[in-house]
Amino acid sequence: MKRIVLVLLLAILLPAVLLAGLALRSLRDQELVVESQRTRLLQSGCDGLADRINRFLEDLRVFHEQLVEEIVTEEGDRATTEFDALVRERWSQAAAATVVRDGTTLLTERPEPGSAADRFLTANGEFLTNRRVAEVFQAAPLGALVEAETAAAPKEFRKESESLSASMEKKASAPSKWKVAVPESRGLAPMAAPAPAAAPAPAAAAAPQMTRNVMPMQQRAVSEEGQMADATLSGGAAGNFSSLTPESVDNTQVTSGANEGAVSRLVDGTLHILLWKRHPQDPSLTFWTELDLQAVKMDLAGILAAPPDAAVSSEACFALLDSEGAPAALTRPDFTADWSLPFVASEVGPLLPRWEVAAYLIDPGSLNAAARKVRLTLWIVILALVGAVAIGSVLVARSVGDEMKLAARKTDFVGNVSHELKTPLTSIRMFSELLAGPGAEDPQKTRHYAEILSRESARLSRLINRLLDFSKLDRGEMRLEREPVDLASLVRETVGDLRESVEAAGMTLSLALPDSGGPVVAGDRDALAQIVVNLLGNAVKYASAGKSVEVSLERTQGGAVLSVSDRGPGVPRAHRRRIFERFYRVDDSIHSGIDGSGIGLALCRQIAERHGGSIRHEPRKGGGSVFVLHLPLDS
Ligand code: ADP
Repeated sequence: MKRIVLVLLLAILLPAVLLAGLALRSLRDQELVVESQRTRLLQSGCDGLADRINRFLEDLRVFHEQLVEEIVTEEGDRATTEFDALVRERWSQAAAATVVRDGTTLLTERPEPGSAADRFLTANGEFLTNRRVAEVFQAAPLGALVEAETAAAPKEFRKESESLSASMEKKASAPSKWKVAVPESRGLAPMAAPAPAAAPAPAAAAAPQMTRNVMPMQQRAVSEEGQMADATLSGGAAGNFSSLTPESVDNTQVTSGANEGAVSRLVDGTLHILLWKRHPQDPSLTFWTELDLQAVKMDLAGILAAPPDAAVSSEACFALLDSEGAPAALTRPDFTADWSLPFVASEVGPLLPRWEVAAYLIDPGSLNAAARKVRLTLWIVILALVGAVAIGSVLVARSVGDEMKLAARKTDFVGNVSHELKTPLTSIRMFSELLAGPGAEDPQKTRHYAEILSRESARLSRLINRLLDFSKLDRGEMRLEREPVDLASLVRETVGDLRESVEAAGMTLSLALPDSGGPVVAGDRDALAQIVVNLLGNAVKYASAGKSVEVSLERTQGGAVLSVSDRGPGVPRAHRRRIFERFYRVDDSIHSGIDGSGIGLALCRQIAERHGGSIRHEPRKGGGSVFVLHLPLDS
């Protein structure tokens, strides 16, 4: 039995559990793949939008270049003296403009205090006239420069330092997400990049790297894993640093080596996007125009209104975040979220420093909920399968165990039956030998021997008949003749036949039958009589020490009830239900000394059930057994 359990465990349960584990693992892998696909999709959405924005800014730069040429050609001297008014007249996206000679002198008149031109010159005048060095961000591919702050402008701006071209080269080779996402295809690269050979070597001090306004999901995952603790990590995802590094430069560094360009600066938190262009004939004159940020923002909102991919935008909202990390434009106007925690984000570029295109999941819980649902379903399926396998294994083990017990009982049965057959056969052989011997002349002895021979052969044939009956019943081959049977008369007759042998065993037999109107059942007379014979026979075999046996018949509402009660040892509790099983004996013949084959009660149960009734054993109050037979009445 232990071996069977072991085989079931190794062959069925263990593989089932292993398969369940594999299924769960592959589900987790699947989830990771889906997650990374989504991340890539949304990241490319952000990159695409950032790319569009940069192209738009490039268009503005090209437009400015053409506009200046047009004004210079058409307006002659007015182009330098009234440049501010001329530009704003022709270009609604221009906020203010000025002209600078030799990078040191403003050629436009002092504007009205409080006007846009006044604000422009207040913020940028010193930088444009080369009186102040500015801390800028530099993006080599675009050649655009960005000033982070001017408040603490260093006085030693004439100090020799690393060359601009060298620092730009350094920037170009530095790992930058922005550069990867938006390659030279933007076409901005050559616009203001000074030829390294032609560039002077002014001061260019590197400012510290700036962290981004947002913490996209990948960076959060990295920092949650504690990798941020490593102080040696720099840039890239781990530190969530901006890919735009500030550099300190002056105006001549911006305009040298090119004819036009674009610069953006963050002055006291306010963004200034400046476009410049040299006079086509007089290179000492530089035309500067500041873009109207509000007008530009409206155009950017238009860009976001047409998101890159309908499939992507259905599950995420894209936002253009300004340098303060606040949304300047959204693909879904009503959407709101913690703007600092997007799913993914891309920095726009040097003309919009610290601006980001960020993607936010519209329903962040949906991903987890769907994954949870799939995981739960899988768990249920796995548990159901493992449960089914476990229950199946237990059932198989039990049925195999039952079969093994039955096989053992059959072996006992053969031993018991042989023992039962042997006893009458031995008597028959012995007395037939005596009959043939010298004592046979004595007629008295001869009669006695003949009586014994007849009794023993009758016992033998009873036993064989019982075995045959049982085997027929067991195989369902026994035909029962149905007829109305008056149970009272049947019991009276059968008990009468057996009374002698019961009393011969030293027992008193009492019979209680209904006075009149005894129960009538539809059944086979001989088969029903067989039940009474078996029960009384058992009482004699096992309960003769109790000295009495009572047989009673009653008619109840439910049917006929026949009870056979004795005062014998009773049946131990553990065996009570099992004594009706085939070949089951509490003690076998060899050990108990009582003949039997374990089929008597099984036969009784088969007959009772074939008549629609039942039979059970009950312990008798005061000791002994009661066998109760229920039979339905003949309708
Ligand atoms: P058998 O008598 O041939 O062994 P049965 O099926 O008639 O087979 O009985 C099954 C077992 O039930 C017996 O071995 C015996 O242990 C127990 N048994 C039956 N009748 C009685 C009884 N009246 N008192 C005690 N034990 C009984």
